[in-house]
Amino acid sequence: MSRKTLNHLCMLLLLTLGCFSLMLPSNAADNIQISAARVWPAADYTRITLETSKPVTHHLVMLKDPERLVLDLDEVELGPTLKSLSEKINANDPYIRQVRVGNFKPGVVRIVVDLKAEIKPQVFSLPPAGDYKDRLVLDIYPAQDPLMAMLEQRGKPETAETPLPELQVAPESPVISSVNPDVSTDAVPAPKPATPGAPATVPTAPSAVIAPSINKKADPRMITIAIDAGHGGEDPGAKGAKGSYEKNVTLAIAKKLKVAVDAEPNMRGVLTRDGDYFIPLHGRVVKARKMQADLFVSIHADAALSAQAKGSSVFALSETGATSAMARLLAQKENQSDLIGGVSFDVKDPYLARTLLDLSQTATINDSLKLGKSVLDHVGTMNTLHKRQVEQAGFAVLKSPDIPSILVETAFITNPDEERKLNDNAHQDKLVSAILSGIKKYFAANPPLAKTRVVER
Ligand SMILES: [Zn+2]
Repeated sequence: MSRKTLNHLCMLLLLTLGCFSLMLPSNAADNIQISAARVWPAADYTRITLETSKPVTHHLVMLKDPERLVLDLDEVELGPTLKSLSEKINANDPYIRQVRVGNFKPGVVRIVVDLKAEIKPQVFSLPPAGDYKDRLVLDIYPAQDPLMAMLEQRGKPETAETPLPELQVAPESPVISSVNPDVSTDAVPAPKPATPGAPATVPTAPSAVIAPSINKKADPRMITIAIDAGHGGEDPGAKGAKGSYEKNVTLAIAKKLKVAVDAEPNMRGVLTRDGDYFIPLHGRVVKARKMQADLFVSIHADAALSAQAKGSSVFALSETGATSAMARLLAQKENQSDLIGGVSFDVKDPYLARTLLDLSQTATINDSLKLGKSVLDHVGTMNTLHKRQVEQAGFAVLKSPDIPSILVETAFITNPDEERKLNDNAHQDKLVSAILSGIKKYFAANPPLAKTRVVER
């Protein structure tokens, strides 16, 4: 071989290597950036969300003695946002003792979650929605019945007249890779605990969402109103021109409505959520049924492209199709909550499937329409009405087979004047008082049937 040929071969080899090195994934510039790390303070479960520049490939493995969860993320950049995750864990978190984040090996970031108890994890991706980019969601549920564990911890509600079918909210097999169980978690150094000396015991039940908070004299027939603040957590709902989020406005109004309902001698209010976190739509229905609610009232704020659109509306479920194109579009929009807020596709929902077939639905819809009319009449005395009659469409959150259920679009958050009112304390009070008057008038005309058991307070 001549020297010239050798030189050519060397050149070729160098060029080839150069091309290969460009294609290697370890190139830091190509790594996925984490732009936000959020920890949601839900009572039912703990959710960690990572917002990413593109979808992330991940591997999850559960380890015992002590209980911990290892989540490996491929081709992710270990930046300050991801490193800050450790500091965002609340010392009182019911499940998480601490989170450690570090580079496990080139191109792989490892998140180790040290746990306080046995848990059931769910990891899934959410596509970009609204202001959010791609998201990787890690939900940490208690090991027993994921959705309802909280309720069972807090004193059992009355035995249902019709037993609920078995809920299968837990995934049959969480996404657990067959990684060598000896996989080292020591690659990630343990940071100092946020509060040195803080007890590592599992705290008592988190703040009550649905448990009654006020003791009242025994009443033969306590009426339970389930109050549902629309949206929450990863699902902000509609956004106002001045930046208000529907999820915050609905929570403020729902909390006020609970206080007003609790002040009635024969009523108690139960909230489906009492903080800024996401609950799947069917989870709201299940909670209301579990508490044997007599009514379900879902609070929302409407949105429109035109800033002029204004007024309140009230909706009930339709089995046969929407009463107007607007109602159909609105139901589609509100039903997107699960998509935006994040429901794992592993979650099975036999309950809702059965609900749709329930024959008692028609009678319940008639009651929902009466309730809706009564609430609409009272809201109409304090705010403009967007529609003068109760509209109907296929709202997922209104699908209880036996609980009259309405959805109140309190006002248009996209109308600057109504956005201001929705955030105004005095206006919220007026709205709450109008909704409660509507509920009371409904019960005056349609007294609740006796239940087989007296409600215990
Ligand atoms: Zn809404």
